[in-house]
Amino acid sequence: MIYLDNAATTRPDPQVLDEMMPFFMENYANPASVYGPARKAKAAVTQARRRVAALIGAKPEEIYFTSGGSESDNWAIRGVAETGQPEQSETGQGQKYAVDCGGGETGQSEQNRTGHMITTRIEHHAVLHTCEALERKGWDITYLTPDQAGVVAPEDVERAIRPDTRLISVMFANNEIGTIQKVREIGQIAHNRGILFHTDAVQAVGHVPVRVDEMHIDLLSASAHKFHGPKGIGFLYIRKGTAMEPLIFGGAQERSRRGGTHHVPGIVGMGKAAELAMEKMGERMRRETELRDRLITDVLREIPDAILNGSRTGRLPNNVNICIPGVEGESVLILLDAHDICASSGSACTSGSLEPSHVLRAIGLTDDIARGSLRLTLSHETTEEEIGETVRVLKEIVGRLKQATDYSQQ
Ligand SMILES: *Cc1c(COP(=O)(O)O)cnc(C)c1O
Repeated sequence: MIYLDNAATTRPDPQVLDEMMPFFMENYANPASVYGPARKAKAAVTQARRRVAALIGAKPEEIYFTSGGSESDNWAIRGVAETGQPEQSETGQGQKYAVDCGGGETGQSEQNRTGHMITTRIEHHAVLHTCEALERKGWDITYLTPDQAGVVAPEDVERAIRPDTRLISVMFANNEIGTIQKVREIGQIAHNRGILFHTDAVQAVGHVPVRVDEMHIDLLSASAHKFHGPKGIGFLYIRKGTAMEPLIFGGAQERSRRGGTHHVPGIVGMGKAAELAMEKMGERMRRETELRDRLITDVLREIPDAILNGSRTGRLPNNVNICIPGVEGESVLILLDAHDICASSGSACTSGSLEPSHVLRAIGLTDDIARGSLRLTLSHETTEEEIGETVRVLKEIVGRLKQATDYSQQ
């Protein structure tokens, strides 16, 4: 099998699994309990928190474990939106949480029932659908359009700011076309204007350098299964002092900001994956970039009418996204699968819907062309032979599909 769908999920590293295993069977204690095994579980959670924090240049107490990228995105946006709303202030909870976390923004006015938020048209649906839910509650959302390469202009972010803008949410790297945003510039603008800045960094964390302080990031979403950790675990980075309403109410876990018994094996696995990613990032980036560029060059040579989506170089080291005009992406996928090659037409969440991707539409592709999209995402485990084989098979498949189309149009 050739696995080229690492943007959908990655293979857990065997070392990650090794560290997780004891916490399923030997030490299943709840880290909140008071006896020996619980203290061990708690120590493992603490170690994982440190490892994750180190990966993004944060302090351990700014890391909040969640169930993954989607929850982190939901929490970042709804947590800001709901902070300081009159409903919570009346019960005292809004105040309480604001005070708990350093009290940067306590006592917000009652006018903050709704407000304005800036995001982009190319976000993951975990962000977009959360924004749409807020719109139904009366929020105003500005959706910025990127340029043809998929890059959002920081000047556009600046121009969209209003007096009632409460949050700017711009993804770090796109999950379909791999484009990396000008995060540092956007963060600088947000901070100059005193507005919170969230970035969905699910595709970036563990793959490219991410530094929350230098990049002026207040809130950052990440997910372990996108960087060779287990599924169902992720984190939200919350800058110290940021007022945030919880999304999941419950026990006192995660400094009373995210209830629920810790998923200890998952947290431990994510910690190990973070440690490995940090250690090997430079080497993995070099390797993936080389293979990515070879794949792009070879595909464009062998399939001359193929179009590369996104920027040629300003993209994730592991992402290739092409459109082949006149060929259905879904048909290519089925035929690649018959050759045991795992690929995607774009977002795993929308494939099967036959709706052209919102990302490809946003960078100006027509629906017809967008339907012929193919995403190939590599990992450090991808080999040169696999790239060669994929190009060979893809060329043959596209030739066959084009012949079939020509025949049916005669
Ligand atoms: C995968 C992904 C998510 C969702 O993460 P889950 O852990 O699968 O919920 C969010 N945003 C981006 C950019 C992603 O690639």
